[in-house]
Amino acid sequence: MKRSIKSLVKFLLLVLLTILVTVIIFHRMRPPKDNRKYSSLKAVEPVPHVGDAHNELLKKTRNKYGGKKIDWHAYDQMKKDLARTGNGEHGVPATLPLNYSEEMKESLYSVNGFNGLLSDMIPLDRSVPDIRHSDCKKRLYLENLPSVSVVVPFHNEHLSTLLRTAISVINRSPSHLLKEIFLVDDSSTKDICKKPLDDYVAKHLPKVRVIRLPKRVGLIRARLAGAKAATGDVLIFLDSHTEANINWLPPLLDPIAEDYRTCVCPFIDVIAYDTFQYRSQDEGKRGAFDWELYYKRLPRLPEDDKNPTEPFESPVMAGGLFAISSEFFWELGGYDPGLDIWGGEQYELSFKIWQCGGRMVDAPCSRVGHIYRKFAPFPNPGIGDFVGRNYRRVAEVWMDEYAEYIYMRRPHYRTIDPGNLTEQKAIRRKLNCKSFKWFMTNVAFDLVKTYPPIEPPDFASGSISNAVAPELCIDAQSRSPDERIVLTQCDTSKKNKKISQLFSLTWHKDIRVKGPRYCWDVANPSDKAPVILYQCHGLHGNQLWKYDVNKKWLVHGGNPRCLDADLSRKTVYVTTCSVNSETQRWIIENVNYKELEKWDLSDT
Ligand code: UDP
Ligand code: MN
Repeated sequence: MKRSIKSLVKFLLLVLLTILVTVIIFHRMRPPKDNRKYSSLKAVEPVPHVGDAHNELLKKTRNKYGGKKIDWHAYDQMKKDLARTGNGEHGVPATLPLNYSEEMKESLYSVNGFNGLLSDMIPLDRSVPDIRHSDCKKRLYLENLPSVSVVVPFHNEHLSTLLRTAISVINRSPSHLLKEIFLVDDSSTKDICKKPLDDYVAKHLPKVRVIRLPKRVGLIRARLAGAKAATGDVLIFLDSHTEANINWLPPLLDPIAEDYRTCVCPFIDVIAYDTFQYRSQDEGKRGAFDWELYYKRLPRLPEDDKNPTEPFESPVMAGGLFAISSEFFWELGGYDPGLDIWGGEQYELSFKIWQCGGRMVDAPCSRVGHIYRKFAPFPNPGIGDFVGRNYRRVAEVWMDEYAEYIYMRRPHYRTIDPGNLTEQKAIRRKLNCKSFKWFMTNVAFDLVKTYPPIEPPDFASGSISNAVAPELCIDAQSRSPDERIVLTQCDTSKKNKKISQLFSLTWHKDIRVKGPRYCWDVANPSDKAPVILYQCHGLHGNQLWKYDVNKKWLVHGGNPRCLDADLSRKTVYVTTCSVNSETQRWIIENVNYKELEKWDLSDT
């Protein structure tokens, strides 16, 4: 018995040894690539990469949201909206009653920069026109979507526009998705923003909370305060004078449910500051900037146009209106809390999103109206160039060598103290974020074509006088938007010439007024159409001008018309070009003949 046990043990040991040797030999024969898979040894720690964490989270998100795609339209609400009648309903221009007080109107205009009195005459739950692309009516979205907290910062907002913002959100959002709306009072001083607001909210708006900040911190930190209080999966930021349109929410949430690192912007419609008419701005463009960090827009890409209702990538957001998963927002450290009051925050967050592994899209089927004010009503907080300081922070942390292009144009930024940047730079390092060059090459790849970091020289510049009456010069009067250019007596002083008589025919092929960024613009196709001043867009169209050196014509537009003048009335206009017309000849003070020779080669 003992002997048989002994031989059994021997036999088993032999079998074990054979298995072991076979395994070792087999293992060594495998190509080294597979070795990694089978070895439990972690010779090299895997490089921390946001993508890995992201994929894990993505799995989480996929399980949580998703499902099949469904039609989210609230047909009952839409039917109710359609049946409404009254002042400003369906976004048609509203009117004041005959007996309105002019004094009241003016005082509300001056504190708001829009017609506050008229706003009070329009129902808080008015209907808005469904101006989405018609295919949006057919689009389906995931049946399980994340929940939402809406954050609305406000400083001295007019009560009816603020309430209309909240009510439009409540009425046009699926109620089970809308967790809460935070109205964050950035230390308003108007009484109307206090008790009347609290009373209305307490009585009618159970989902709304008002957060009062003890000191004015500006919209960036006010948004942060709202975001900190929020409990929803997705944060949606809105301005305090907006109106959410039909089915606005699902198109904002669906791309986030698919990938929690996608930030989504709605299309921003225009609510007219004077009539409260609701209209579309256009069918969407991609957000961009120039090298003074003015917000600009680039055309949609041809492949985006093929699918007009599909979200398309955009390099930067316009600002106040966007949706982002709370998880991603806080992974990015939220906004840089060192940014003061306002300015630069849309660039900071956009650069951060793209460079640190996220993505930004505009969703054509989500539309929100916004009142673009006539003028900014708030007094300057008196703390120096806070916008410059914000820009400096953003440039220093995110823009690498490209920051220099901004400092070249605004040398005084170099001397502004940006404050402590340690934390912001640490976030960039920790998240292993990509360079600004990567952003410029891969995301804003066509930006430099329209906004080159180093501008080519002007084709011509200086005063522009009429060849028949050389004592008369073109004058941009007060250089304000919508104003006509006219003829006035030329300023012949050698130094400090009248600035409204100085222009540049720039490489954009537009004619710019010195100082403010307005361009000669002709939108009117009728004969003898006036030339007005309009914000320069650099995209030709109504602002395309060419100087014909031989004929001395200033030729406008793709359907060419020439600048002409009525010398007795001192007016200028565009009309059919004619070699017989003496008054169509213009003398520009400095002409860069060499650049003009390259006209056809330059630009697009
Ligand atoms: N805002 C704020 N604190 C400020 C300035 C603005 O909370 O110091 C709010 C304002 O009420 C609005 C948003 O921030 O909801 C954006 O400001 P505004 O509408 O004036 O900017 P615009 O749309 O005119 O660029
Ligand atoms: Mn606004």
